[in-house]
Amino acid sequence: MNATRRGFLTAAGAAAAQDHVHAQGHDHVHQAVPSDLTLRVKALESLLVEKGLVDRAALDAVVDHYEHNVGPRNGARVVARAWADAGYKKRLLANAGAALAELGFAGQTGENLVVVENSPQVHHLVVCTLCSCYPWAMLGLPPVWYKSAPYRSRAVIDPRGVLREFGLELPKDAEVRVWDSTADLRYLVLPERPAGSEKLSEEALAALVTRDAMIGVAKVTLPQAGGRP
Ligand code: FE
Repeated sequence: MNATRRGFLTAAGAAAAQDHVHAQGHDHVHQAVPSDLTLRVKALESLLVEKGLVDRAALDAVVDHYEHNVGPRNGARVVARAWADAGYKKRLLANAGAALAELGFAGQTGENLVVVENSPQVHHLVVCTLCSCYPWAMLGLPPVWYKSAPYRSRAVIDPRGVLREFGLELPKDAEVRVWDSTADLRYLVLPERPAGSEKLSEEALAALVTRDAMIGVAKVTLPQAGGRP
C-alpha cells in the first residue's frame, strides 16, 4: 500500500475531500476527472518538494499516522467496547447513533451509521460503488484502494475474489454480504473478536482492531509472539 500513498495524499485525497464536502448536502457529486483543487494540491506539493521545503518521506509518515493511528482509533474504541460489553454491542447494532454518543461521538457520523456484525457464518464487506462514502469520524481517511474503480466494482461482482486479494479466504459455507454506502447511510463492520483475547483489557482489544477489519477486508488477529499486530 505504501506505493499508493503519494497519490492518496495528493490527487485522490483532495478529490475525496471535495466530494465529501458536497456529500454533506443532498447533492452527491461524483468526479471523474481531477478537480482544480486536486491539480493545485499536486502542483503545490511538487513545487515544495522541488524547492526542498518538504520531504516526501515525511509527508508519507504524516499520512500514515492519520491513516493508521488517529483515524481508525475512534472506530476501534467502539469495537472494543462492543466486544467487552454485550449490552453496549446490542445497543450499537440496534442504534449506532445513540451508542456512539455514549462514547462521546455525538453527531459524528452516528446518525447515519449502521454497524453490521461479522460472525463465522456471515461476513460483511463495505464499499461505495458510486465514489468513496466512508465513516470518516470513525475510521479517519479512506484508503486509496477504497476509492479505486476496481474495488468499487469488484467488491459487488466478486467479493470473495477481492477478499482473497486482501489475504482473506472465507470458508465456502460462509455468507458474504456487501453493503453499498451512500452520502446518507454509511456502514461500519463489527469484526469477530479473535480467539484467545478473552483476558485482554478494553484498551488492549482496541489496539488489535484495524481499519481494514472495520471495512470488512480483514479479520482481527492476535499479534504474533514478539511482534506487532
Ligand atoms: Fe460516495
